[in-house]
Amino acid sequence: MSGILVIAEHTRGVPADLNAEMSGAASQLQQQFGGSVRFLIVGSDAAELAPALALPGVDEILVAHTANAHFDAAITEQAAFQAALQYEPDTILIAHSASGMAYASALAVHLGSGFAADVFALDRAEQGLRATRSGYGSKVNIELDFPDKPVVVLTIRSGAFKSAKGAGTAQCTPFMVDSSATVGCYQHIEFIEPAAAGVDIGKADFILSIGRGIQDEKNIPRFAALADKLGATLGCSRPVADSGWLHKGHQVGLTGKVAINCKLYLALGISGAVQHLHGMKHVDTIVAINIDSNAPIFNVATLGSTVDLFEFTEALEKLV
Ligand code: FAD
Repeated sequence: MSGILVIAEHTRGVPADLNAEMSGAASQLQQQFGGSVRFLIVGSDAAELAPALALPGVDEILVAHTANAHFDAAITEQAAFQAALQYEPDTILIAHSASGMAYASALAVHLGSGFAADVFALDRAEQGLRATRSGYGSKVNIELDFPDKPVVVLTIRSGAFKSAKGAGTAQCTPFMVDSSATVGCYQHIEFIEPAAAGVDIGKADFILSIGRGIQDEKNIPRFAALADKLGATLGCSRPVADSGWLHKGHQVGLTGKVAINCKLYLALGISGAVQHLHGMKHVDTIVAINIDSNAPIFNVATLGSTVDLFEFTEALEKLV
C-alpha cells in the first residue's frame, strides 16, 4: 500500500485548525505521488470529533477510541505505529505542536523512518519526497530528501499549507488499538491557560504592526487607537513584546504568530529581520515606513516610505 496517514490534532474536544492544513498538504502529496489520504484520530472522544475530518481529498477516517480522557503521547504514538503497520503509508503527517512534538520523533524511531520537524514546504525530488524546514534561527532553508526510506514522518508547521475547505465524503472506520503496554506512561495534571492577548494575529486580515522604532511604551496607546480606528489588528515585532509593551500574542514572526490570513500589513518602525519576515513576508500588500532606506523590510514591501513614522501616523490620524 501507499499514501498519506495524517494524525489528527485535537484538544479538549476541539479539532485543531491545523487538521485542514495537514489535509491540504496531504492532497498536494497525493497529487504528486498518488495513494490514499487517511486521517487517524485517537482519544476517548475520537468518534464525536471524526466527522470534522471529512475534508475534501480525505479517503478514510480511522477512529481509534481509547480510554484516555486527555492527550497521551504514548497511546497516540502506539496508535499511529499500529496504523502505519496496517496501512503502510509512504508519509505520516503530524502537527508541529506541543502534542505532535511529544510523539512524532518516537514514532519515527519506532518505524525506522525518515523524519523532519517543522516542515513548511513539500515537493517532489528525483528520489521521492523533499521536505523543507528552516535552520539557524530561520536564516536558511534546509531541503531534506529521504532516499531509501519507505516511510517518512513529518511534523507540519501551522500556517504553511493551504487549508482544505468544504466537506468531503470520507467514511469513518473503527480502528482498534492495543495500548496495553503504554497505559500509564503519561499523567495529565492540568491545563494552564495563557493570559489572554485579545488578538488573533493568525486570523487578522489587516495588521498595523509596530517595532522598536516607536521608541517608548508610552506611545503604545496611540498606535492601539489608530489600529482600532482603521479596523486593523495591532501586531508588533519581538522587542516590543519582550519589553512587555504589548502581550506576546501580538508578536509576528518566528517565535510569534504567522499572519496567515493577512491581506494588508502596515509595518511602522520595523527593520525586517529575517525572523520577523517569517511571519509576514507572504502578505499580498506590505506597506513599510522606516527612516532607514537600507532596512530589509523594503525588500518585501509593496509600498514603502522613509518618512518618520510619527509624521506618517499624524497624517493618518487626520484621515480617520
Ligand atoms: P529594530 O531592528 O531595532 O528596528 C527598528 C527600526 O525602526 C529600524 O529599522 C529603524 O530604522 C526604524 N526606525 C527608528 N525610528 C524610526 C522613525 N522615527 N520612523 C521610522 N522608522 C524608524 N523578531 C520578531 O519580530 N519576531 C519574531 O518572532 C522573532 N523571533 C526571533 C527568534 C530568534 C531565534 C531570534 C534570534 C530573533 C528573533 N526575533 C524576532 C528578533 C529579530 O532578530 C529582530 O531583532 C527584531 O525583529 C527587530 O525588531 P524591530 O524591527 O522592531 O527592531
